[in-house]
Amino acid sequence: MVELKTDTSIDAMYEAGQVVARALTAAQKAAGVGVSLLELDEVAHDVLREAGATSPFLGYRPSFAPTPFPAVLCVSVNDAIVHGIPTRYRLRDGDLVSIDFGAELGGWVGDSALSFVVGTPREADLRLIETAERALAAGIEAAVVGNRIGDIAHAIGTVCRAAGYGIPEGFGGHGIGRRMHEDPGVPNEGRPGRGMRLRHGMALAIEPMVIAGGTDTFHAAPDGWTLMTDDGSRAAHAEHTVAIMESGPRILTAR
Ligand code: MG
Ligand code: MG
Repeated sequence: MVELKTDTSIDAMYEAGQVVARALTAAQKAAGVGVSLLELDEVAHDVLREAGATSPFLGYRPSFAPTPFPAVLCVSVNDAIVHGIPTRYRLRDGDLVSIDFGAELGGWVGDSALSFVVGTPREADLRLIETAERALAAGIEAAVVGNRIGDIAHAIGTVCRAAGYGIPEGFGGHGIGRRMHEDPGVPNEGRPGRGMRLRHGMALAIEPMVIAGGTDTFHAAPDGWTLMTDDGSRAAHAEHTVAIMESGPRILTAR
């Protein structure tokens, strides 16, 4: 079931979304060569505490997961696509880092992610990240009243495929609101004009993921959480929580 949010609820979701935006900005700023993934998690946790918000990630345990998620921030490095668990690993020059963060404030949840390079970037990584961001922008642009979920999926998939990248099968965005994962699912590839019609008050987390090697396949790391590319190539991820409104899409996690 899809809950349509009132304008007041969307304003409240924006407040949660801004905690997410601040935490991601702080974690990105803190990231550098020699900084550990656990330190980034701590930086994000501080923002959460200062805001009086809680984490929808910490302790989260979907059906595929062997253990509850142990952190507030997902950190996925190089060939890790999403769901990376922060470890003592210290970032190295040229690492491609994707961070994904959620916050719950006043009963509403925000969810957002971004990718960046630590130290000296490779041209190929910058192009990968830029494509994920461009796919996200295309998805958001299609998130308008009267369109359908398939229009968002098609917009994202078209950008990613045109760049020659793979799209992890079976992973994508989702409805969001009182809980992190709500209906409907928002695939990263699909046919235009298909699926649920978009209405004022729907809130969606739109989140393209791209695999540099062009394959769509992945596997879970031994930790059971981290999704890794099968071909060992690098991946990038970008995500915003967006409200669909008569006036156009409102990015609730805008930084
Ligand atoms: Mg996320
Ligand atoms: Mg999400």
